[in-house]
Amino acid sequence: MRFLANKAPIFYLEYLVLASYSEIPIICPACRRQLGDYAQIPDSCPRCSAGLQELRQICAAAVQAYKRAGRLMRQEKFAQAQQLYENAMRLWKNDCFMQAAYFARLAKMAHEHSQCHYESLEKLSLP
Ligand SMILES: [Zn+2]
Repeated sequence: MRFLANKAPIFYLEYLVLASYSEIPIICPACRRQLGDYAQIPDSCPRCSAGLQELRQICAAAVQAYKRAGRLMRQEKFAQAQQLYENAMRLWKNDCFMQAAYFARLAKMAHEHSQCHYESLEKLSLP
């Protein structure tokens, strides 16, 4: 019972995170030109020549936090994962990171709830 309660959130993660950060179009913050996905951000905007290195670094830091959070989820460290997903979202707000942060919060609550039930079951003296 405890096993199922702990593993279920991980099982659903693959299905619930529908958005993908790698497909989100990046827009030049100066002139709003579409630049392609985050892996294609150039050094400067082809239309207005605004420097985009910082934007690229911010997106990369967000993706790094998102990937680290995914590893924490698989280790059932839901609270830490939720914080990292929220960090990723503060750096780069998009549907993918928002859904992941929301799901980590649900997984954390489900996990705490299952621990609570498990402890109650342990207190019962079942034959
Ligand atoms: Zn531009």
